[in-house]
Amino acid sequence: LFAGESIFLKGVVAMSGLPPADRIEVCFAGRSNVGKSSLINALTGTKALARASNTPGRTQEINYFTQGPDLYLVDLPGYGYANAPLDKVKQWQKLLKQYLSGRPTLRRAFVLIDARHGIKAVDEEILKLLDTSAVTFQCVLTKADKISAAEREKVLDQVRGALSKHPAAYPQIVLTSSEKGEGIATLRAIIAGLE
Ligand code: GDP
Repeated sequence: LFAGESIFLKGVVAMSGLPPADRIEVCFAGRSNVGKSSLINALTGTKALARASNTPGRTQEINYFTQGPDLYLVDLPGYGYANAPLDKVKQWQKLLKQYLSGRPTLRRAFVLIDARHGIKAVDEEILKLLDTSAVTFQCVLTKADKISAAEREKVLDQVRGALSKHPAAYPQIVLTSSEKGEGIATLRAIIAGLE
C-alpha cells in the first residue's frame, strides 16, 4: 500500500465533493499543531505533501491524499482553534459527523494526541462523535521524541484511562515521532492490515 506515490487529490467542503468510494481510506484527526501534517508526510515519505492542508483556506476542508492506487489518506480539519467563529465550528462538526458515519470505505479514524499532553477536554468532543459513528478509532501519540521514558508510561496510562470510557476505541495506542521516524512503520502496518 505504501509503495506507490502519494499526491494531494482535493479539498472537500461537503459530502457531495467526496471522491468515489472506490478504495479503502483512513482518516486523521487532531487539534491544530498536534503534528498531523508531519505524520502524514512521514507516512507517505514525502516532505511537503500535507503542507497543502495547512495553507490558508484548506484548514477547514477534508483533504484527500492518494497513497498508491488502493488507499486514500484523509486529513480532517484540525480542531481547537481558539478564535474560530461558532458558525464555522458548527459547520465543520456537521460535515465531520456526516463523513464519519456516512463513508462506507472508511476503515479507521486515527486521533492524534500530543504525547506531552495526553487526552484533553478539547479532544473529548471528537471521541464522543466517533463513539456514535460507524468507525473504530485509534489513538496515535505524536512528538514522542519530546518526552522521557517515565513520561511515556504516564501518558500511556492517562490515555488508556480516557479510552476506557469510549466504546469505539481500539485498545492499541501507537507512539510516534515524525521527527525520529518512531512508530511510522507500525502505523503503516496497521493501515495495511485494514485492507
Ligand atoms: P498540524 O497543525 O497538526 O498539521 O501540525 P504540524 O505537522 O504542522 O506540526 C506542528 C509543529 O510540531 C511543527 O513545528 C512541527 O515541526 C512540530 N512537530 C511535528 N511532529 C513532530 C515530532 O514528531 N517531533 C517534534 N519534536 N516536533 C514535531
